[in-house]
Amino acid sequence: MTAYLITSVSVVGAAPADLLIRDGVVAAVGPGLTAPDATVVDGTGLVALPGLVDLHTHLREPGREDAETVESGSRAAALGGYTAVCAMANTSPVADTAGVVEQVWRLGREAGLVDVQPIGAVTVGLAGERLAELGAMADSAARVRIFSDDGHCVADPKLMRRALEYVKAFDGIIAQHAEEPRLTEGAQMHEGEVSTRLGLIGWPAVAEEAIIARDVLLAEHVGGRLHVCHVSTAGSVEVLRQAKARGVRVTAEVTPHHLLLTDVKAETYDPVFKVNPPLRTAADITALRAALADGVIDVIATDHAPHAVEDKECEWAYARPGMLGLETALSIALDVLGPEWDLIAERMSRTPARIAGLTGHGVDPAPGVPANLTLIDPAARRTIEPAELASRSRNTPYARMTLPGRIVATFLRGEPTVLDGKAVK
Ligand SMILES: [Zn+2]
Repeated sequence: MTAYLITSVSVVGAAPADLLIRDGVVAAVGPGLTAPDATVVDGTGLVALPGLVDLHTHLREPGREDAETVESGSRAAALGGYTAVCAMANTSPVADTAGVVEQVWRLGREAGLVDVQPIGAVTVGLAGERLAELGAMADSAARVRIFSDDGHCVADPKLMRRALEYVKAFDGIIAQHAEEPRLTEGAQMHEGEVSTRLGLIGWPAVAEEAIIARDVLLAEHVGGRLHVCHVSTAGSVEVLRQAKARGVRVTAEVTPHHLLLTDVKAETYDPVFKVNPPLRTAADITALRAALADGVIDVIATDHAPHAVEDKECEWAYARPGMLGLETALSIALDVLGPEWDLIAERMSRTPARIAGLTGHGVDPAPGVPANLTLIDPAARRTIEPAELASRSRNTPYARMTLPGRIVATFLRGEPTVLDGKAVK
């Protein structure tokens, strides 16, 4: 194995030091390190963070390889500073059996760019009618611990209760897409002033908040672990704040786009801004940012949702909801939070790794730690050009926006997946 000596790099915002990687682990961190056999990477001005971990990625394989593959999504993730991603189950076929989750897990290992941890479906075919083979997926080679019908809400309270109970046997988690379906029938965007003005059917905040309120009570009742996907409203934050104060075993994520963009974007009728849950209001953004800072929201997760051109570049009403996220998440976090490196490491690496149980990820670079890390140039600014993204899809809401920060290098178990800002393979 090769050795890498990263010189004068700030580890999670600390004073610059040298960082030596050898045989897949961080061998040393300190001033004035020498290693004649090592490849030198000039880390001057760069910040090293533990490799980012995404709890919510849609890789689209199997089934929609025209939109993304495990390999192309893995490359996008590495370029975004990620060393591990959790792959959502709404593929075709659905990842609701040991066979499909093992297939995704194997494809991830073959690509070798990030660790791909499959998420299993909660219900067969995401149909919300009967539980999938949760135990078989947990026992499979993929060792599934997080289950989600994401894209759909597990709306039936009895099924949700049974799922929360069932996964306790292996300390699993149910990740809920909180959307009361009866309250969002035909919805096209956030229900509010803008939807009224545009004459579009609204997706009310209460449709999310009602499910989160129900689910934290169910999780509390059975003592199970609940994770709430893509929290998008101020009211949801208050429900979560109360549940956490009572000791309910609940964690929550927010997406980069819900931290930055508002429902006013719908005025453009550009379907690139159509997403589920929808972009909300400035007041919601303020509450979400505060919750991220105070820990009521535990992690930033991308909800990276690639879509083929024909599914996205059409009339707003017919466009699929979803946005790319992996290659821009760190820049949005930097834009929203500022250079708060410890907070960024906590919300984008340490905590998501802990929630997903990904050993070796989410650990700050220190001697003996697996060398899963990323190097960021915080002073760089880059203009997002959709055609330059590694994702197979182009549906980024940040096209031609200039964002702070650039990923310079990413290492997975001591081997670079990204160097000089470019994918190694
Ligand atoms: Zn979702």
